[in-house]
Amino acid sequence: MVWSELVTNHEATIRLSFFIGILCVMGLWELLAPARKPVIAKATRWFNNLGLVVLDTILLRFLFPAAAVGLAVIAQEQNAGLLNNVELPLIATTLIAIVLLDLVIYLQHVMFHALPILWRLHQVHHADLDYDVTTGTRFHPIEIVISMFVKAGAIFLIGPPVVAVILFEIVLNACAMFNHGNVRLPLWLDKIIRVILVTPDMHRVHHSTIINEANSNFGFSLSIWDKLFGTYRAQPKLGHDDMEIGVSYAKDPKQVTWISGLLTMPFRSNKGNYDLSHRKVEKSVSNKTNTESRATS
Ligand SMILES: [Zn+2]
Ligand SMILES: [Zn+2]
Repeated sequence: MVWSELVTNHEATIRLSFFIGILCVMGLWELLAPARKPVIAKATRWFNNLGLVVLDTILLRFLFPAAAVGLAVIAQEQNAGLLNNVELPLIATTLIAIVLLDLVIYLQHVMFHALPILWRLHQVHHADLDYDVTTGTRFHPIEIVISMFVKAGAIFLIGPPVVAVILFEIVLNACAMFNHGNVRLPLWLDKIIRVILVTPDMHRVHHSTIINEANSNFGFSLSIWDKLFGTYRAQPKLGHDDMEIGVSYAKDPKQVTWISGLLTMPFRSNKGNYDLSHRKVEKSVSNKTNTESRATS
């Protein structure tokens, strides 16, 4: 297959071109028609958010030189995984693999919210006081490394064609940069795109300081998972202009904007009450209150 060979042989160039191309398009769109007025100077945020991306990329290349693509090659050579053991046209296995890998990313995102230790890392993505294309690339290096292990496990279970892994990385990156854009689509267009893909208005809800809103809309590319698993929330309660972006317990611009603050954030004592552990405490407190009120009545 010519198209698959072309993509595989020029993986790094294609991925970097898409990253820079989408960054430029979204950056220009945000400059010309921003959906919300930024709270922090754009240059400072971009310098730090993109600095973190560079750090993440260097770390990944150092720890996993073969990257996800290399793992897909090994899985194929060893006939490991579901799709390496079925007879289907390449186009079909590629599509199935992309959809399944997207499901894995959705489930991984839910876990990063649910488990307290993982939320410590993932809060770095949420603590951004503004929401734009660079927020979509802002992740703590340890979250990036854990994601790589999850992806590796998924590749050996699914057995995707090599080209599917490359296309998936491009699609995921492109979608994340698009749906973190500080832009607004006309409502009718948002509605059509949202049937399949996550739009900026849909994912912005996920960056609300309101806990229930932050714990919804976990999808990065396909919007179907949130609708299927009951985590979908159409719009923020306060509307897109008035909703507050970030996490309620970390609002100091210095601590949530500069790389030094972002790298140390998971190790600070306060991780807020967004994860599952706190919801358990709240439940037991309310149960206790109920018992006490029953006892006194
Ligand atoms: Zn999240
Ligand atoms: Zn996000």
